[in-house]
Amino acid sequence: MRFDVLTLFPEVIDAYTNISIMKRAKESDIISINSVNPRDYTLDKHKKVDDTPYGGGAGMVLMPQPYVDAYNAVSKLENSITVMLSPQGEPLNESLVLQLAKYDQIIMLCGHYEGFDERIRDIIKPKEISLGDFVLTGGELPALCVIDAVSRKLDGTLGKIESAQDDSFSNGLLEYPHYTKPRDFRGYKVPEVLLNGNHKDINEFRYNEQLNRTKLKRPDLYEKYINKKD
Ligand code: SAM
Repeated sequence: MRFDVLTLFPEVIDAYTNISIMKRAKESDIISINSVNPRDYTLDKHKKVDDTPYGGGAGMVLMPQPYVDAYNAVSKLENSITVMLSPQGEPLNESLVLQLAKYDQIIMLCGHYEGFDERIRDIIKPKEISLGDFVLTGGELPALCVIDAVSRKLDGTLGKIESAQDDSFSNGLLEYPHYTKPRDFRGYKVPEVLLNGNHKDINEFRYNEQLNRTKLKRPDLYEKYINKKD
């Protein structure tokens, strides 16, 4: 999987992907991450990438030329998708992550300031993806969320020890609770069933915990799960 990230702040992308599981996935060639800075594509000698909005109003708008030219300079694989990180997009969730994981290349446009000149959307026609109904300063954190969540779905990113198979949402439910050493932490004990080595009992306990906590914390998911099962 190749991620090409159009961003004015490539150091944000590097900082997160040069550690831990993302770093290992890069070193194993499961993913590659190429940041492209639209500022390097300006035709303006001051390397200007934004300007005041026509019609007035607060904030600075990202100009079309640096973004469109930077986008055109990215070499495109056949099985590729272009994504614009935007609060106006489709909310990112497990099923969208699984869809994205089927591509060989995800090109991402990160906005900043007041956002994109509308003609960037008109010309590039990206799929818009949102992290949720709130506004962030820039698209880098949402782009990193896409990189991280999609990479976890790719063979080899997670070692056996970090398996995602029981992660929340993978079967439509939230994950069961985890415990590690010590058995007794200041009077808070690990449930007995996890200590007896009986895998049938353990699986049953964990499944019931998944049902209970999903019903409590995410009744919307619980309803969906129960209706699908029936
Ligand atoms: N003025 C824009 C609006 O109200 O729709 C918001 C611009 S925001 C300050 C700057 C950039 O951050 C956006 O262009 C987008 O790339 C990114 N961004 C902000 N919130 C986001 C969200 N919830 N999901 C994805 N990207 C977001």
